Amino acid sequence: MRPFFFVFLIFGSQFLLAQDTSLVAQKKILQLMGSRFELTAVATTKQEAWDAINAGIKEIERIELLISSWDENSQTSEINRKAGISSVPVDKELYDLIYRTKKVSQLTEGAFDISFASMDRIWKFDGSMKQMPDGEIIKKAKAKINWQDIILDSEKQTVFLKNKGMRIGFGAIGKGYAANRAKELMRNRKGVKGGVVNASGDLITWGVSNKEEGWVVSITNPKDKEVALGWLQINGLSVVTSGDYERFVEFAGKRYAHIIDPRTGYPTTGIKSVTLICPDAELADALATAVFVLGKEKGLALVNQLKQTDCLIVTDEDEILPSNNLQLNYF
Ligand code: ADP
Ligand code: MG
Repeated sequence: MRPFFFVFLIFGSQFLLAQDTSLVAQKKILQLMGSRFELTAVATTKQEAWDAINAGIKEIERIELLISSWDENSQTSEINRKAGISSVPVDKELYDLIYRTKKVSQLTEGAFDISFASMDRIWKFDGSMKQMPDGEIIKKAKAKINWQDIILDSEKQTVFLKNKGMRIGFGAIGKGYAANRAKELMRNRKGVKGGVVNASGDLITWGVSNKEEGWVVSITNPKDKEVALGWLQINGLSVVTSGDYERFVEFAGKRYAHIIDPRTGYPTTGIKSVTLICPDAELADALATAVFVLGKEKGLALVNQLKQTDCLIVTDEDEILPSNNLQLNYF
């Protein structure tokens, strides 16, 4: 739940009546990858819509098995176990995903870094942490964060974490990747004309919507969630919000988000939420996290320099900062 800054799809009860009356829209809500997913398909027949939704669900379940660092049997866990010991042969899919995460690390000067995960055992955002972790412990764990020490061998298709105690985790990109993949599968099913894959507010749309105005999301005011700030047209786009209000810790009145700044080993401060809009859900997910780490100035500068990419930042002081080309519509 993101009570401060909420992005949601506008569709009411009439949703089941597609705008083109020959089309039907069906929706399934379920728990996947520890999040609430909503899969919607607009198709020629009800059956086709359900076939697509079921294919999407299977795909997300499959991806979860590949990238989970909690499941001991996943290839990701094997990579972590072999840190500092040996390289691990992996599926091309996982190899390619890790390759792309390194590209994002490069683009964001290390703000996004899947090797943040050596911090997993130090910072806990489930309410169990009662005091600030010891500075020395943080320093030690921080020394293990470095995307450049994730060594890829394209010929052998292996991944090697160079140092003992290094770990990787896909918390900041997994939902986006899964949404992309589910969308691709659903889109290619017979009779499917459009849809949405929505992972707890991180979503991607394609094709036709049930509404005249197409796919739109409403952006609520962080100061008053009853009040909408405006709305965005998101046909064929992905919208991802980073900043899970329920996952943070507070020490001496200071709020620490569950996103780790790889440069310091401490959680980020200053930003409450980042909504990132671009055509690709995986990139949107990763960039939303990166902007969090980079902070408002550098974060906006990065987004303003990327094509077809926009964002809206809400700071701890409730400043609302849009990127240059954000097309926020008012009512
Ligand atoms: P949310 O959970 O609010 O959707 P994100 O998509 O930004 O937010 O994901 C946050 C998760 O990303 C954290 O819980 C953690 O698993 C992981 N993470 C934390 N810091 C980083 C970082 N600097 N780079 C990459 N992943 C991170
Ligand atoms: Mg993210």
